[in-house]
Formats: sequence, structure tokens, C-alpha cells
Amino acid sequence: MIIQLEKNIDKDLSTKIKSTLNELKFSVNPVSTQFEDYLICIGKNEFDIRSIGHLKGVKDVHRVSDNYKLVSNKWKTKNTVIDLGNDVRIGDGSVSVMAGPCSVENEAQMESITEHLVKNNIKIMRGGVFKPRSSPYAFRGLGIDGLKMMHEFCKPHGIKIITEVMQASQIEEMSPYTDIFQVGARNSQNFNLLDALGESDKAVLIKRGVSGTIEELLYSAEYVFSKGNERLMLCERGIRTFETIYRNTFDINAIQVLKDKSHLPVIADPSHGVGIRNYVPKLALAAVMAGADGIIYEVHEKPEEALSDAQQTLNFMESDLLIQNINKLATFL
Ligand code: PEP
Ligand code: MN
Repeated sequence: MIIQLEKNIDKDLSTKIKSTLNELKFSVNPVSTQFEDYLICIGKNEFDIRSIGHLKGVKDVHRVSDNYKLVSNKWKTKNTVIDLGNDVRIGDGSVSVMAGPCSVENEAQMESITEHLVKNNIKIMRGGVFKPRSSPYAFRGLGIDGLKMMHEFCKPHGIKIITEVMQASQIEEMSPYTDIFQVGARNSQNFNLLDALGESDKAVLIKRGVSGTIEELLYSAEYVFSKGNERLMLCERGIRTFETIYRNTFDINAIQVLKDKSHLPVIADPSHGVGIRNYVPKLALAAVMAGADGIIYEVHEKPEEALSDAQQTLNFMESDLLIQNINKLATFL
């Protein structure tokens, strides 16, 4: 059960509500986000919810049978829309596009990618500076200096930045240059990181774990929400299966299932989803058809020279065409 409290509720009143709930054998978890105050109540007792709904200080009461409560769509009448400012919104019915290199590499690369985004009216740049790599000898990113460089190029055009954060201690130094923190697949269940992002006011995109179930992804989002941050989105990026002919199995089912189970925007990442450049554009379009609120993909002026994920990165011509097709599809839908 989720109880929404009146804003700035008197402490005595909330104590009274909590003790009434304890009497009904519910454990009570208070949650305060940037938007609302909630009591998340766990218990099985059957009772007339009007007895809680009538209490002073209670704005609304919702029975939510899912174990992930706050991210469930069983209580919210409207889907979550994330407003990044300058008219950039995610989850408002449009198809959001986030495009850019796997990794930020150098100024020339940032200059050409910025030009490409501006030309195609893409409002969000992706680019990693702290890179989780399977091999410790692979390029692991330029770190905070790379992020500052990315910001220098994006800012004059009002382009928003999504970049991966790998550990809680990075959040503070990254925040001034970041609009969306990406939690990568390998960190999808790093609960300390999720807790820390719950205390941030920045938007967060959580990728599904390499072998993560849909339910585990929803629980990861619940961690962030329950620590105070409602500006959240979910990302399908492929899972590891017995199939080895491509990098990952892009689980297009997950897009519809996540949309059905949660009010959060769902973003699809076909680049990591399949891991092979030629297949990315069509899978991106398939994800739009399947109901994704946005697409995140990798693009580079010279993909063959990219320092990471070259094999799945589109070149500018392929990306131009993909954007045209996404726009056509969005209009059609
Ligand atoms: C990435 O976005 O470049 C990345 C490393 O993604 P994932 O965590 O999905 O592998
Ligand atoms: Mn990548």
C-alpha cells in the first residue's frame, strides 16, 4: 500500500498515521522525494482503506499488490514525464533520441558529433567517460576531464548529457556536467550506487543487468525512487542468453512488459542490444513500434576508429537515415 501524504504534513499527524498503520500490522517506510511524501506500507492485513484515507494529513491511499510499489503503475494514473529543461522531455508521448559515441575520446570527435546532433535536432548526447570494460587493458574513458569537455560542446546548443556513473563517489563531481546518470548493465544491482542516486536530483536511466530479469530491473528502480528520486527511466539493452551469434539478445518483449508494469519511461538501446552495426537501425525502429519512449544508440564520425564498441557504432550517414525513419515512424504512430 502507498499512502501519499499532504505536503508539509505536521510531524504529530504523520506519527499518528504511522501508529494507526502499525496497529494494523503494517511495517511503514517513509519516503520523501523531490515531489512528494509517501508512506510505503508492507503487510497483508485486510482492512477498509477508507479508515486510512479519512485520516487528517492523508492525500491519497493506493493498494499496490506488486512488491515493487513506487515504480508500479498500479497507483499512478499518469505516466512519468521527465523534464530536463529547454523543452526536452522524456515520456511525453514523443520518441526521445539519445545519440553519441560509446566513449568520449577527444575534442575533434566531440566537435563532429555535436555538429551531427545539431543537424539532426537531437537534444541528448550520450558519451561515456567512466567505462566498464571487460578487460582492464581496454580504453577505460577520459574521466571527469572528458565529461567537462563534452559539456563545453553541448552547452552552447542546449544539448543534454547522459553519461555512465560507476560509483557513488563520482556523483558529486559529475553532477554539474550531467543531466542523466546512466547506471550501466554491470551496475544494475549495485545497491549502494542506486541508493546514492536516490539522493541526487538528476534524472537516472537504469539499464537492465546483463543477466537481469525484468523484475530485478524494476526493483533497482524502486531503490532509487525509495531513496527520494522520482526522475527515473528504465532501459532494455539486451541480455545474455545461449545465443552467441550476436553480442546480446535484445529483448523486445521487455519494452511492452515494462510499459505495462511501470509508469516510468522505457528507453531501448539497440546498439548494445544486438552489438552489430548493420542490425542496429531496424531494431531501433522495432523498439519504437514496440512502444519505447526513446532510443539510445552509438554513433561516431569514423566508427572503425572508435576506441570502444566500434563494431556496433553507426556512422553519420546511417545515423542520419535512422533519425529520418524514427521521425517518420513517430509521426505515423
Ligand atoms: C554503454 O552504454 O556504453 C555501456 C557500457 O552500456 P551497458 O552498460 O549496457 O553495457
Ligand atoms: Mn558502448
